[in-house]
Amino acid sequence: MNIAVIGTGYVGLVTGAVFADMGNDVICADVDSIRIEKLQNGIMPFYEPGLSEMVNRNLSDGRIKFTTDITQAVQKSLVIFIAVGTPSKENGETDLSQVENAAISIAKAINDYRIIVNKSTVPIGTVKFVKDIIEKNKTYDVEFDVVSNPEFLREGSAIYDSLNPDRIIIGAPSQPVALILIELYASLGRPMIITDVESAELIKYASNAFLAMKISFANAIADLCEKTGADIDMVMKGVGLDHRIGPLFLQAGIGYGGSCFPKDVKSLIHTSSKFDIDFKLLKAVEEINNQRIPLFYNKIKKVMNSIEGKVFAILGLSFKPDTDDMREAKSVELINYIISDKGIVKAYDPAAMPIAKKILGENIQYCENAYEAAKDADALVICTEWREFKLLNMQKIKEIMKTPIIFDGRNIYDPKIKMRYGFQYYGVGRKII
Ligand code: NAD
Repeated sequence: MNIAVIGTGYVGLVTGAVFADMGNDVICADVDSIRIEKLQNGIMPFYEPGLSEMVNRNLSDGRIKFTTDITQAVQKSLVIFIAVGTPSKENGETDLSQVENAAISIAKAINDYRIIVNKSTVPIGTVKFVKDIIEKNKTYDVEFDVVSNPEFLREGSAIYDSLNPDRIIIGAPSQPVALILIELYASLGRPMIITDVESAELIKYASNAFLAMKISFANAIADLCEKTGADIDMVMKGVGLDHRIGPLFLQAGIGYGGSCFPKDVKSLIHTSSKFDIDFKLLKAVEEINNQRIPLFYNKIKKVMNSIEGKVFAILGLSFKPDTDDMREAKSVELINYIISDKGIVKAYDPAAMPIAKKILGENIQYCENAYEAAKDADALVICTEWREFKLLNMQKIKEIMKTPIIFDGRNIYDPKIKMRYGFQYYGVGRKII
């Protein structure tokens, strides 16, 4: 099938690469000419395991092309995916300006029947929004359909997730349109749910909001653990083994960040308010998450007495492991607290350092590895649960630190093992024996 993908971010580029790998002819278009030029030369704009290999394989086989010419991409393709960014506005509403611009570009180019697919996470009513824009701006008198097909991939395992989705949601206006999408996804052999467009649009937000809720719930229980002597690991193990609940997304820590959960929770609260629904549950989810870093930082301040002049080795800057994405990363919030109290930050992240430098500038020291960060540090702070941090030589870490104190914001270490090396260990909601 001939496919166009508008937007070559985490979702668009992975989607394009996977469709090409499945044997389709894919044109990926973006307004960012530097990004496109790099992609034409096989250089990825961000870190995602396995992506570079997949893109380059399909580039050399001629199944994927990169262009800034959206007109050409639209005219050569039957199905056009919109995978542009949908950030939050100040009031929590989803900013649809990138979607609007993409729809206008499609409208100008569309010269025959096309199916336009909203893959971006967009609120209920956006299929109609895109349809109206194309209808209003189209150059040629042609038919088209708009479909909602939300994306559920996770950064860090985006290729695997795209090839093995738990479900494929297709919100189509009619059966023949749905059938074209079914044909496209059929070879994955995964469950497909065909719905009306509004339900498809809501499934994505409801899923992300539910996952965010699980995290905030675990964090609220962790706070109670700290006051009562219970241990969050034990409690959530006991809770998660109930098959009605499940063990995932019950890890306590410094909270969720990233480009999806914070904005999607905000957006669902906003959408609800437009329909006179006060979504109090989600407001609490957000509030609990917003309290995570202030609470964690208070713990740090209490232990360290004063922050001024103290050296903090921050391990992990990205919002989660296996990505260089720094959007809404909790590390930034924590580092800003430390800096404003005149603490010194030495940071290391396996992938996110180049992006972190753009956000945090010269305010902190960037290290080559975890050991360089830990050298002469007064405390080690885990912000992201990268696997390599779990495998550090802790004897060595203890020897090179000025004072062996660990603040484990992701509960990656076994408190007992750390005690064995002689660290002062502080996790989130954990019993320290
Ligand atoms: P991103 O910011 O990484 O990428 C967006 C891309 O779109 C950029 O390269 C930008 O230059 C391009 N773009 C913007 N306007 C354009 C236009 N008019 N024409 C062509 N290109 C344009 O975004 P992302 O993280 O890939 O997210 C895209 C959408 O997918 C969002 O709605 C997001 O909520 C959703 N989503 C993201 C993830 C994730 O893990 N990142 C997962 C599921 C869903």
